[in-house]
Amino acid sequence: MNTTVQDLQRRLIALGFQLPKYGPDGDFGGESIAAMGKALDELVEWRQRDQVHFPTSDRKLSPPTFLPSPTIPADWMPDAKISRIIFHWTAGQNKASDLDREHYHILIDGDGKLVRGKPSIALNSEPKAKAGYAAHTLNCNTGSIGVSLCGMAGAVESPFNPGTQPITRMQWEALASVLAQLCTRYSIPVDRKTVLSHAEVQPTLKITQRGKWDISRLPFDTSIQGAIAIGDQMRAMVKSRL
Ligand SMILES: [Zn+2]
Repeated sequence: MNTTVQDLQRRLIALGFQLPKYGPDGDFGGESIAAMGKALDELVEWRQRDQVHFPTSDRKLSPPTFLPSPTIPADWMPDAKISRIIFHWTAGQNKASDLDREHYHILIDGDGKLVRGKPSIALNSEPKAKAGYAAHTLNCNTGSIGVSLCGMAGAVESPFNPGTQPITRMQWEALASVLAQLCTRYSIPVDRKTVLSHAEVQPTLKITQRGKWDISRLPFDTSIQGAIAIGDQMRAMVKSRL
């Protein structure tokens, strides 16, 4: 097997790692090498936690099948009456900040790792959210779990620019796994009104949201556009994990 540094870099980028691009002349400096080393360390760590399943055959040139499936700790999912899950992006950095953690129950860092938000899911339980609940969706917090992908600081909707902290495919895959576990725990069916992005709340649930835009583009897959189309893709991914 004859793998070049560019091959390695391309494969790591395909897995969702953000790496500095090597120059057009194929020149890569210490920064690129260091970033690749860090990415490989993370992959090793993921594998040690049994969150990446490498294929046992066909190891040649295709990238490994990457299926992040982080497990939500049981104590993050207390008894509560929950009827929907709304997923977001934070519009912040790829790492959850203290402020990000105030607004959501579960956050997913850029590398797919889970971070617990400050409010308990129990505070958003029906029939009425209690003081200190996670305020993630205007007029739609009772009975709603909020999950957020860390990233998209400075992103612009049109013309689309994902900013300096785009959400990654790794986060997207981890989200599908998180949603599937929550649906199972709280007996939530997977349909457009029960598992949806913040961007779908206004068109689907008819609950007006203030001008903030949300998941209607994916930086790692521009072939799919629009809140509902992206939501449908995620719902299909969740169903495949149930
Ligand atoms: Zn949102």
